[in-house]
Amino acid sequence: MNWELTNGTIVTPEHVVHNGSITIGNNKILKVEKKQSGDSKIQIDLNGLIVFPGLINGHDHLLGSYMPRVGARKPYLNWLVWDNDLKSAPVYAERQQIESRDLYLLGAFRHLLCGVTSVHDHIPHFVQDMFKENLSIRLIDNYTLAHSITSFALKWGDSIEMEHRLARERNIPFVAHCSEGYDEETKKSVSVLNEKGALNKNTVLVHGIAFSDDDIKLLEKNECNVIWCPASNIYMFEKTAPVKELIDHKVNVCLGTDSPMSGSVNMFQEIFMAKKYFESTYNTELSAKTLLNMLTINPAKAFSLKNLGTLAAGQLADFVIVNGDKSHPYEAVNTMNYEDIMLVVIDGKPLYGDESFIPLFEALGVSFQKIKVDSFKKIIHGDILGLLDRIRANVGFHKELEFLPVEAW
Ligand SMILES: [Zn+2]
Repeated sequence: MNWELTNGTIVTPEHVVHNGSITIGNNKILKVEKKQSGDSKIQIDLNGLIVFPGLINGHDHLLGSYMPRVGARKPYLNWLVWDNDLKSAPVYAERQQIESRDLYLLGAFRHLLCGVTSVHDHIPHFVQDMFKENLSIRLIDNYTLAHSITSFALKWGDSIEMEHRLARERNIPFVAHCSEGYDEETKKSVSVLNEKGALNKNTVLVHGIAFSDDDIKLLEKNECNVIWCPASNIYMFEKTAPVKELIDHKVNVCLGTDSPMSGSVNMFQEIFMAKKYFESTYNTELSAKTLLNMLTINPAKAFSLKNLGTLAAGQLADFVIVNGDKSHPYEAVNTMNYEDIMLVVIDGKPLYGDESFIPLFEALGVSFQKIKVDSFKKIIHGDILGLLDRIRANVGFHKELEFLPVEAW
């Protein structure tokens, strides 16, 4: 059954369609147009609400969807020292009592509440494949990988050369943590990738806090992609990637939250950190449009997601409807918070939204639970309340997770 949202402020994100209408059929966008098409039985008036493409989070580890953050010895030399602190932390033992399947569900709901519809969960396929079914969000699952580019990297995937060759042949991303730390080996990561012939448009490098000027030139020349995780980097290393230099050199930069055990609580906080860091470091504005691109068209390009990242006929129907100032619609990416996320649609199916969208869920036959998120009344598809009960039963106390401020109403 086709359905239509009318009178929206549609940010495609290349341009804005004011008083626009978006028609959805099955899992696709059928039309985005200025006028109302009027040929759908179900029509909802958005009264000027802002429609963004579903946000794409370029970096997370869903198994790490737990809190609080770990980091007693920061700033760290590299990820390995932090990982040792993680594994010996009491909160890690607490997390071990929870089934991996439930940690994936926590991570998926964490993102859904923020309008994030696709996530790159950086982990070998054999792990992710066990848990990716029944998640409310889309996991980006077509990639090759390395953990990182040092002798102490976790043994993920085959060799860097083999994984990158496969990515090039299939035109899919090759994803690796890169230049995440201060030690001599970590600082040489980009040179090593270059020597191995592993830098090209399929290469997606996460973090990059130790990128040198020469590294940036190599990334520009080879059309590489970078996932910027400012909250995680500043927390662990008190430093992050030279992001303005990367943008100035036309490197494709995307935004990622990393897991909440080192990174931001949620995508809202990541966006806030990105803007705050950029503007205080470079004394110039990081525009809302640039930020929105880092969450939509840039990651769609980096991860070869041709049917995502924009709102147009033929694209997959992944989008988020946000409350904001319709005369400055891009700015909503900076101002949005839990209360402002009005509807999240993935694959043409509404999965989360404001209570005012109950008629749409009912008309489309989508079941939902009534929840309060940060005290705002919302509805959500899936058993988030049962999940929280299970987590609390597993750990034996009323665990609060800052990224899921959820209760029944
Ligand atoms: Zn990571």
